[in-house]
Formats: sequence, structure tokens, C-alpha cells
Amino acid sequence: MAAGTVSDNKVSVVLGTQWGDEGKGKLVDILAKDIDVCVRCQGGNNAGHTIVVGGVKYAFHMLPSGLVNPDCISVVGSGVVVHLPSFFAELEDLEAQGLDCGGRLFISDRCHLVFDFHQIVDGLKEGELGRGSIGTTKKGIGPAYSSKASRSGIRVHHLYHFEEFEKRLRTIVSARHRRYGEFEYDVEAELQRYRQLGERLRPYVIDSVEHLHKELGAGKRILVEGANALMLDLDFGTYPYVTSSNTGIGGVCTGLGLPPTKIGDVIGVAKAYTTRVGGGPFPTELTDAVGQKLRDVGAEYGVTTGRPRRCGWLDLVVLRYSNMINGYSSINLTKLDVLDVFDEIKVAVSYTISGKSVTSFPADLDDLETATVNYVTLPGWRENISKCRSFDELPANCQAYVRFIENDLGVPVKWIGVGAGREEMIAI
Ligand code: GDP
Repeated sequence: MAAGTVSDNKVSVVLGTQWGDEGKGKLVDILAKDIDVCVRCQGGNNAGHTIVVGGVKYAFHMLPSGLVNPDCISVVGSGVVVHLPSFFAELEDLEAQGLDCGGRLFISDRCHLVFDFHQIVDGLKEGELGRGSIGTTKKGIGPAYSSKASRSGIRVHHLYHFEEFEKRLRTIVSARHRRYGEFEYDVEAELQRYRQLGERLRPYVIDSVEHLHKELGAGKRILVEGANALMLDLDFGTYPYVTSSNTGIGGVCTGLGLPPTKIGDVIGVAKAYTTRVGGGPFPTELTDAVGQKLRDVGAEYGVTTGRPRRCGWLDLVVLRYSNMINGYSSINLTKLDVLDVFDEIKVAVSYTISGKSVTSFPADLDDLETATVNYVTLPGWRENISKCRSFDELPANCQAYVRFIENDLGVPVKWIGVGAGREEMIAI
């Protein structure tokens, strides 16, 4: 991504390869030193990145984590859905921790807004689904994308034609009342609040399509920060246990108004084992003491919700499928240090479904239910790798684990996370 290379005039992209929480934030933070613009393209404040810099822990939910670099401009792109009170709360928290974001944070005028009624509806919807609930973060993201798809959504630019804003808000709230009954929601107070929020937001609002294309044309280095991950993609994830946007490479184009010809490096972030939050299939899940050990050593508890994450071994069926869809040019393997404590490490290489060997991820959840997972067992290294700063310093068994993954995927592993801190990363 250095100036003068072929990647100039193309965006670089960081995407989650599994079910999220792979540690994308740390890579973005490291890359942010060499970029001019950091962009979010989809999702909302249901994502959670934690970045530790100089002993300070920053929690990002909706804002691009490039903000930790004081020279980096950050853009919330058109495909993101934004709950404005949360946008300002997150900004205030970051500024209270000493990050000056003034003049370097922008939001697309095409972003759809998430309202409190969307959050109420999120809870009511999950309640209706009962035991089959998706396990959403109840932040109203899904209902806001539903409003968008049903063409009754409200976008940022509507705030500046307030009559239109008011008409649309009243219409959509009545429709939700008809559908979900008379839940408590003070439309008059909400209108007041959004009149003020709109004014507060004004300095941040841009036409992000034109803005990004101009930045690209000027040779600026742009990094797109994916939220959630491929297995939560609305189309290619474990539907319906997915998020409500396209989290794969397609979402980068549709969420930003960028053609595929403008996409350069696509870096897939893969945790050295697998975790998942919420409901839905997870073939390599371990519900035993080994799973609990992964959870404890890996501190696998959600940033946004605090929920314990489900844990299991690395699944190459998932990663191969993820790579087919996103076409990774390199991989960042994260949290490899968490595996330091295991005598042996398993890796899923195929499933057996109805007597047949399956090497790509199936669409049908019922098929997955009955799948037997076939593992290869590799020897552990039983050594603390957190001080290693080059591939050669890693124990031989640890190197072999990385090579095994690399060979299977046919994608080079270019970064290896060996601890939570910014400096605890091996670049190859
Ligand atoms: P993201 O949403 O994909 O950025 O992932 P999260 O921020 O939810 O989870 C990543 C967590 O793992 C954070 O607490 C990071 O500080 C931590 N982390 C990231 N990389 C590593 C690593 O290589 N080793 C360890 N032990 N922790 C890491």
C-alpha cells in the first residue's frame, strides 16, 4: 500500500473470515499508520472492535477505528445504518479518552438512520421468534435495514428537509404500531430530539461517494474496515442466523458506491480457532472443558454485549468457503497465542453429511445439524509465543500450524497476532 505501487488508486479491505470478533480492529489500527482514510461500509453499532494503544483500551462500535491514528480521516459510508444518539455517545467516549476527532470524521448523507423504535421492534421480533430467535444485539440494526429494503427508511439527508423527515417518521411509526401493537414511543419528543441531532450532525455530513472517489483520484490510501464477518453475511452466512447486511466483499461495493475495479488488497482476518456469538450452527463448537479453556484463555466475551462467546476449533471448511466468496489476497491469523496452552490442536478439514464428504459450507442448516466434522490433529507447542516478533522465532509446531492453514487455503498468512497489544503482531 505504499505510495507509488499498483495499489494506489485502489482501496484495501479488511474483512472478518469467520463469525466476527476475529480481532479486525487491531490490524486496522496497525495499517492505519500508512493510510489516509479509514471507512466503514455496512452494519451499525452492533459491531465491536477493541483496540489497545499505549495501555488505553478503545471500544469502537460504529465509528471507524482508524480514528486512533490522529492523521487519519474516517468516513461512515452509505451502507452503514446509524443510531445518532449512539454515534455521538461513542464519539464523546473516544474524545474523553483523549482522541481528538474534530474535522476528521465524516458520515454519508445516504446512511439510513436507526431510531429507538427500531430497537424496540428488534426486541419484540426476537420475542416473537421465541426459541428460534437470532440472538441479535437488539440495537435495531435488522429492523432499520428492513425499513431500508421496504423503502420506508429515513436517511441522513432527510434531516435537512424536516417536513419530509417528520412525514416519514410519523408514517413509519404508525405502521410499526399496527404491526406490533401500541408500544411506548413518544413521536413528538423524538421529532424534537432529531431536530437538534440533525444540527449537531451537520458538520460531519458529506456526499461520501464523491468524496471517496475524489480521495482515490488524488492518490489517497483508503482502507475499508469490514464489520461482522463473512459467516454472518445476509446472503452467504448461516441464514437466518446472520446479520442484516452484506458483510463480504460485495458489501464493500454496494455500501460505498465503489466498482470492483477499485478494490485492491483484500485481507481476511481469521482467528486461530473459531468463536460465534448468538444462535445458529457452529459445526466445530466445543461445549466441554476444552471450549471453556479457549473462552477463558482467549477472553471470549462480547465487547458490545458482554455475552460469553461460543468457542471451538478452527474450521477450514468455513475458511475455504469464506475465501471463495471474498478472494483474500492475504490472511491475518489472530490470537495464535491462545493455543499456547494446548497439548494438541484440532483443525476441521471436511464434514460428512449423509455418508458423503463435504468440503464446502452447505446452505441447509438441517444438513449441518447432522454433519460429522472430520478433524486433523496437530501437535501443540506448549510455549509462550507472545514475545515472538518474527516467524522464525515461533516454535516449530506453531510454524507448522500456520503453514497447514496457508497450504490448505492457498493464501499467504502475512500477519500473526501473538497477543492483544498493538506491538504483539508478527508481520511476514
Ligand atoms: P474485532 O471486532 O474483529 O476487532 O474483534 P474484537 O475486538 O471483538 O476481539 C478481539 C479481541 O482480541 C480484542 O480484545 C483484542 O484486543 C484481542 N486480540 C486481538 N488480537 C489478538 C491476539 O493476537 N492475541 C490475543 N490474545 N488477543 C488479541
